[in-house]
Amino acid sequence: MSEKGTLSINSENILPIIKKWLYSDSDIFVRELVSNASDAITKLRKLVDLGEAPHIPADAEYKIEVILDRESGAIIFRDNGIGMSAEEIKKYINEIAFSGANAFLEKYKDKMEGGGDIIGHFGLGFYSAFMAADKVTIESLSYLEGAAPARWECSGGVEFEMSEGSRDSRGTEITLHIGEDGKDFLEEYKLRGVLTKYCGFIPSPLYFESRRTEEELKEEAEHVHDENCEHSHEGDEPKPINDTHPLWLKQPNECADDEYKEFYHKVFMDFAEPLFWIHLNMDYPFRLKGILYFPKLKHELESIEGQVKLYNNQVFIADNVKEVIPEFLLLLKGALDCPDLPLNVSRSFLQNDGYVSKMSGYITKKVADKLTGLFKKDREEYAKTFPDIAPFVKYGCIKDRGFYDKIKDSVLYKNISGGFVTIAEYLEAAKEKHENTVYYVSNENQQARYIKMFRDFGMDAVVLDTNLDAPFISYLESYDYNVKFRRIDSDLAGALKDSAPSKEAAEETEALFKKAFGGKELKISVEALQSADIPALMLLSEQSRRMSEMSHMFGGGLPGFAPANDETLVLNSNNRLIKALLALKDDESRADDVTMICEQVRDLARLSHKPLDVEEMNRFMARSGEILERLAGNAKEET
Ligand code: ADP
Repeated sequence: MSEKGTLSINSENILPIIKKWLYSDSDIFVRELVSNASDAITKLRKLVDLGEAPHIPADAEYKIEVILDRESGAIIFRDNGIGMSAEEIKKYINEIAFSGANAFLEKYKDKMEGGGDIIGHFGLGFYSAFMAADKVTIESLSYLEGAAPARWECSGGVEFEMSEGSRDSRGTEITLHIGEDGKDFLEEYKLRGVLTKYCGFIPSPLYFESRRTEEELKEEAEHVHDENCEHSHEGDEPKPINDTHPLWLKQPNECADDEYKEFYHKVFMDFAEPLFWIHLNMDYPFRLKGILYFPKLKHELESIEGQVKLYNNQVFIADNVKEVIPEFLLLLKGALDCPDLPLNVSRSFLQNDGYVSKMSGYITKKVADKLTGLFKKDREEYAKTFPDIAPFVKYGCIKDRGFYDKIKDSVLYKNISGGFVTIAEYLEAAKEKHENTVYYVSNENQQARYIKMFRDFGMDAVVLDTNLDAPFISYLESYDYNVKFRRIDSDLAGALKDSAPSKEAAEETEALFKKAFGGKELKISVEALQSADIPALMLLSEQSRRMSEMSHMFGGGLPGFAPANDETLVLNSNNRLIKALLALKDDESRADDVTMICEQVRDLARLSHKPLDVEEMNRFMARSGEILERLAGNAKEET
């Protein structure tokens, strides 16, 4: 006896809307159907455990099978779980699942039209089958003793048909007769890929079979006949394609380092060793299990890109869901299983959910604890890995003040003597010479001269040479208004200066250079530097440099802002060359030489502070050639 019915629906036809999903997230029907199968098994297991199903042996084997039948263009999802009676199909599929899917779609219909990715990965249950299928059949037999098999069929539209079923063993088999929109999934490779992606860790064994087509079978038979060789696959024990006990479910104290590494290699296809990891295992006030790995950077300045996989009861939901996981943690690699997350709601809801923010807070705290723990336990070892985790740490600090609060005493800075210091240690050591100022180097090669000068006078500077450092410095200054960061070539720390030069010598030196530069604007100052071997230095105030870097970032110019040339040429009155030049100031016959040398001194100073522009460089090269020529000429005359 069969029964027909109409699904009660608000909009004309739900299916075209469901199909639209294909364009945003075509895979999710696979996940939905397999996780329903998995739930059906979990429910039955629970009943067996509770003694509610005494006719089922305690050691019964449960499994989910996905069968690809290319011959008939169908995908079959089969489980031996709890099953459904006809009454239950009516209730769960016709009413609850349908109204659930319907309400869900009603709510998001408008948003979907603008681009379906708003809800992206979040599922819509059984009816997602119609994303790929034109017709769906359910054959089910309830686990209850004496239950009658039931069958349900629906071909798109809103009409369904129910009749007596044919299933003779407990469980449910759902057949998707794949339509035009889902034909990609009839490829074995594609379907297997989607299954391993979403269902690689589901709790019941999952088997995948791709049936051979008639033609393939015929060919195979001929092949066996022709070559008279064994080609039988019988005896090959099929293996589940999933791991039913992912490592994150184990107790942390039961996991060996090798297991963590193996899991990492397998899940992230990254064959480098992770630096270290955090195993999250929490039951109260919310359930959260997972493992977060700190990946090793392949090259020093590579932009890091992590991958945090989000699971809901061992079913993969999506990678890098930024509404759930604090953004900076997305630079890590890991798997997080959050069974309590309401994942069938929209992302914007998740974003505002108190549960989600508590969870993020908890994860952040665990990460901070791990870092401070490593710092305390073995600082030397920690310092070695620090360059690898620095981008992550800095980004995390900028993004989350709470995170910086927790780890600020464990943030290390490489210094110019090759060690690592914390900011507190640096400031403490420097407090006699420059209070509350941190000198830093942004390019060790270019700023070598300043570094040498600092080293010679027992001063320290930290190396901040990555793209993240400029915003990081601004962040640190806004965090603690007392501390200022100065690039090593931005001013002269008092300790580098000797006693002041005589006023007269200073004025004469300045005048000499001004004359040589022929009135070109350049601030000049004369100082007696501790390092007598340095003729001159170019300084650019921290403020001006930051402004011009910023204007650079905005494509060459902020409207209404022309970066002033705020360089200062510092001439060292203690230097022999400067003294020698001064001695020539009244020698008209050497005026040319003096001009050339003054210009060369300026360019050399400039070079150790920034690259010369094209014109400057051309003049510098020509002048250098000429100086050498004159030197060679002189040498010849002298011999
Ligand atoms: P959800 O899984 O979120 O409850 P679905 O639309 O996916 O929503 O499914 C609706 C209901 O149909 C399920 O709650 C379950 O009771 C029933 N169901 C679906 N698939 C199966 C199955 N394979 N075995 C038993 N019951 C199922």
